[in-house]
Amino acid sequence: MYRTNTCGELRIINKGTRVTLAGWVQTVRKFGAITFVDLRDRYGITQLLFGEELNKQLEQDPPGREFVLQATGIVNERSNKNPNLATGDIEISVQSFKILNKSVLPPFSIQDDTDGGDELRMKYRFLDLRRNTVKKNIELRYAVNRAARNYLHQQGFMDIETPFLIKSTPEGARDFVVPSRMNPGQFYALPQSPQTFKQLLMVSGYDRYYQIVKCFRDEDLRADRQPEFTQIDCEMAFVEQEDILDMFEGMIKFIFKEVKGIEYTETLPRMTWEDAMWNYGNDKPDTRFGMKVTNLNFPQQAFPGKQSPLGTVGSESPLRGAGGPFDDAETVLAIAIPGCSEYSRKQTDELTEWVKRPQLGMKGMVFIKINTDGTYKSSIDKFYNENRIKAIVAAARAEPGDLILILAGAEERTRKATSELRMEMAERLGLRKNTEFKLLWVLDFPLFEYNPEANRWVARHHPFTSPKPEQIDTMIHNNPVIQNASAYLDHPYAGIKANAYDMVLNGNEIGGGSIRIFQRELQEKMFAALGMDKEEQQHKFGFLLNAFGYGAPPHGGIAFGFDRLCAILGGSEIIRDFIAFPKNNSGRDVMLDAPSVIDDKQLEELNITIQRKNI
Ligand code: ASP
Repeated sequence: MYRTNTCGELRIINKGTRVTLAGWVQTVRKFGAITFVDLRDRYGITQLLFGEELNKQLEQDPPGREFVLQATGIVNERSNKNPNLATGDIEISVQSFKILNKSVLPPFSIQDDTDGGDELRMKYRFLDLRRNTVKKNIELRYAVNRAARNYLHQQGFMDIETPFLIKSTPEGARDFVVPSRMNPGQFYALPQSPQTFKQLLMVSGYDRYYQIVKCFRDEDLRADRQPEFTQIDCEMAFVEQEDILDMFEGMIKFIFKEVKGIEYTETLPRMTWEDAMWNYGNDKPDTRFGMKVTNLNFPQQAFPGKQSPLGTVGSESPLRGAGGPFDDAETVLAIAIPGCSEYSRKQTDELTEWVKRPQLGMKGMVFIKINTDGTYKSSIDKFYNENRIKAIVAAARAEPGDLILILAGAEERTRKATSELRMEMAERLGLRKNTEFKLLWVLDFPLFEYNPEANRWVARHHPFTSPKPEQIDTMIHNNPVIQNASAYLDHPYAGIKANAYDMVLNGNEIGGGSIRIFQRELQEKMFAALGMDKEEQQHKFGFLLNAFGYGAPPHGGIAFGFDRLCAILGGSEIIRDFIAFPKNNSGRDVMLDAPSVIDDKQLEELNITIQRKNI
């Protein structure tokens, strides 16, 4: 037997027991004739004491950091207790020991505060995983996994595996492809999600499906994306939107309770997509803090039911006609930042540069400081008289001591920049606390999105999402072709809402799904709206259309971004830290050194010739 106990297990009540431990050498400390060794395993650290006699043996064969050591001895009370260690009251007086394996000197220290940089830690991920901080993340991931499985199992869901080698089912991203040796010149695609399979399972009658499953998307990687990531993927038959919201609200609450000990009793807040865009400039609003957006001006078609607090929008807006920076702007948005009226010129200049970065592309930024005595100082004093400024301040619901920041420009870009600015200011003001969790549902998304490059509609969620039942007619009876790109907001399709929903946590979309189209005709109409002719529909989705001809039940589902959910629950936004073997930002596994070239024989078997000139 290699061990009787783990390194995290022994306490004062075990005093006097003879035990054998095995683990890795964390530290070796010599004090004259005696030596202390901290021995570490997955469960904790225990101090070993080597007395005079064993010390000689130890000197002949000294264990270094990360050696694998087995030691047998008696549990004793420590004279110098360590309250920071669970085993800190005891130590093992070693009677015999054996070095089970040696280690070369690790390239960084295996400690919470390691000296290893990111790249080095990724190259030696197997060592990084020994660190307590990383281990905690992996443990948390498993706890979330277990909680999700337990909940779904209790609710009668079945875990059914779906294939990885499939046919390309475009869902907005690029596919990873795998060449087929047995079918020369042909390729499988790796699934971007099991979307069509889970729908087929509904057609087959497995009315509650789930899978914690890898998905693959060949996207340009932003800081917190991975080319292969994990979803908690679910689908249910004979359900309406309300049933899905109920079921998965239940799941997230169960996870919070099991993993964080946080009990949510109230139902999750719900927000329409339109309200989210209107109040936060974003469809995944961070509701841990206020600082809502004030819509001073906007294109009326984008928000048909909304009004500017300043009154009329468009060319009649009170913002117009003063020769100021808002005269030509389609959209003018403001946010009141609490307690920042004392910002210096340098600080507002720096913020202006921040919004002018190419990622946001704003031309500038206007500010109004509301001094604590109620007077104003603004960068538009020379254009707007005091009454106009007063009206803006009132519209923005600003208080003395606030700083109003105003962005103006084209609708989409300005809204995005305002949302980013809101998040940035909240970050600077310490309002995005990673110990606070704000969940909500965002509902009623548009079914379509306009793609300016192609001048056509694309599915906002995916092409299997159903429109609101009362809008099916609008879809059937209107031609999807967009005549005039600049007037796409006037097209009847722009107003069609989807039976789609996202779950949002602290400004992140952690889950998203929809009620699906289950009638063949409507699905064909949807594909056609996305520019697919009959032939292409058959080629790409013949199997699904075919299945819908054999009694498809009404169904819907959702998928949660498992990695991101774990990261947020762990108080981080970096999903890489919660994946045992992640890729870096260029999609590389630096430990394996993958992707890599394959040898000519393999290429030949696959009937593939590589043009090496560009590599
Ligand atoms: N398959 C979808 C996704 O990956 C989720 C869903 O609609 O269930 O986003």
